[in-house]
Amino acid sequence: MDLGIRGKRALVCASSKGLGRGCAEALAAAGVDLVLNARGSEALAATAAAIRAGHGVEVVAVAADITTEEGRAKVLAAAGQVDILVTNAGGPPPGLWSDWSRDDFIRALDANMLTPIALMQAALPGMMDRGWGRVVNITSQSVKAPIPALGLSNAARTGLTGFVAGTARQVAAKGVTINNLLPGIHDTDRADALDRGAAKGQGLSLDEARRAREATIPARRYGTAAEFGATCAFLCSVHAGFIVGQNILLDGGATNATI
Ligand code: NAP
Repeated sequence: MDLGIRGKRALVCASSKGLGRGCAEALAAAGVDLVLNARGSEALAATAAAIRAGHGVEVVAVAADITTEEGRAKVLAAAGQVDILVTNAGGPPPGLWSDWSRDDFIRALDANMLTPIALMQAALPGMMDRGWGRVVNITSQSVKAPIPALGLSNAARTGLTGFVAGTARQVAAKGVTINNLLPGIHDTDRADALDRGAAKGQGLSLDEARRAREATIPARRYGTAAEFGATCAFLCSVHAGFIVGQNILLDGGATNATI
């Protein structure tokens, strides 16, 4: 299917690896020029080079921490006008509800709620002026069904979801859509780190820990960054203009709910 977005320009945050990279690859395959971002410059440069070589699109790489005001300013200055914005950043650390201080909450809100909101505030006016735009926020399945150890993530991402629900309906008339993608367990460095933690904590091998988590997913496997990216690219396509303010779960059926 031709996604109809060849020649558009996208900012994909936190995209040297994992789900962000999956989104960047799928957009590049659709002919979209990219601005990529991550903190570490080495992996970022390698990803940018691979995408340039693989898809022949323009790729600008900006090494910066997207959760800081300074980092965002650097990324936005390099990006200029974008037609597509994919927000993403690392997730907050796990822990226990009784342990988190105000500062812990502020850090989580800054990274996973206020950063995507600031990026939308920067990109939406230009998209609305030009009469076309797409925003996809990478959030988490924890928005639909809370993950007990990830209370900071549950809180921050739910706040973002509330903001998107209202804002998406205020900008839709200008040809701009905002939607959220909710990953369940995907095969990325983050999933690997969680498996290593579980293996250590439960005295299992890494393989046993992974099999145990796969068994909790009806699809009996982890999702891939490529599948995730393809869904993101579709949401950014010309065909998805009537999808507004939705929360799309990609979890292999793991969230046991009728709707
Ligand atoms: P990942 O494989 O660890 O990749 C994270 C990417 O983001 C890397 O390119 C990393 O590069 C970059 N990054 C992290 N923090 C950043 C920051 N502050 N500024 C700029 N770039 C940053 O993670 P992932 O699995 O793709 O996860 C992406 C998001 O989805 C996270 O918020 C995660 O919590 C959420 N999620 C993931 C899963 C899953 O199963 N994978 C499930 C639910 C939710 P640098 O480290 O060099 O900055």
